[in-house]
Amino acid sequence: MSRGLISIVGAGPGDPELITVKALRRLERADVVLYDRLVSDELLDYCPPGTLKIYCGKAPGRHALTQEEIDRLIVDYAKVGHRVVRLKGGDPFVFGRGGEEALAAARAGIEFEVVPGVTSAAGASASAGIPLTHRGTAASFAVVTGSRCGEADTPIRWDLLACGADTLAIYMGVSKLNEISGELIRHGRGPDTPAALIENATTSSERVVTGTLGSIARLAAAMKVSNPAMLIVGDTVGVRDLLYPAELGRQRIV
Ligand code: SAH
Repeated sequence: MSRGLISIVGAGPGDPELITVKALRRLERADVVLYDRLVSDELLDYCPPGTLKIYCGKAPGRHALTQEEIDRLIVDYAKVGHRVVRLKGGDPFVFGRGGEEALAAARAGIEFEVVPGVTSAAGASASAGIPLTHRGTAASFAVVTGSRCGEADTPIRWDLLACGADTLAIYMGVSKLNEISGELIRHGRGPDTPAALIENATTSSERVVTGTLGSIARLAAAMKVSNPAMLIVGDTVGVRDLLYPAELGRQRIV
């Protein structure tokens, strides 16, 4: 019997071409794939015909697998010698709970690896024409979650983040835009700071809404922006207007 292996693999931000060569090689040899909601279906076509494909996200009428159930499944399949691919949107170690899965593998004494992916902040930045850093404009960026998993989760230090990095890439924030922009403004970031929301970044349904910290929540509501969307805050949002002047004003609702 072959030794099992758990590969915790990033699938990239949405466009199926934005997966790494290494990740594709893992899919091509997978016995079992456990995949998330934000993973492009096309990627599963790289698996051989016999691969067992297990959907881990929420589906209508079915409850999503809990993290504990996923941890147990990847360990159990690997224990009997399977090559298990845990395929996750973006990068597994950026708000992907990949660390928990790696810990589950390590605890069970199973060989594992982490294959990085293009995180959605990088995908959104590239496809919207908003550099995360830009000479003369932004020398730092921070990757931040806009939501916590309950009160017990690590607090988000809006007080330090508001002015602590030139560009903020905020994940999982679309349903909390009023709260997020309010916190950032309260802690000193100017309400006129440029801000953009990139919905379904890198896919054919991508939409970009630009405004300011003070206006982005209202604009997003007017445009009915929904998940998944990336909020980027900072002066480099203005670079988009220089790269794509034809788009200027198109998505803005005043
Ligand atoms: N591990 C993932 C993040 C998972 S958290 C990564 O590295 O990208 C889920 C959040 O990621 C979403 O709420 C959204 O903020 C962001 N996201 C994922 N895919 C996205 C996409 N195609 N466009 C915009 N944001 C995306």
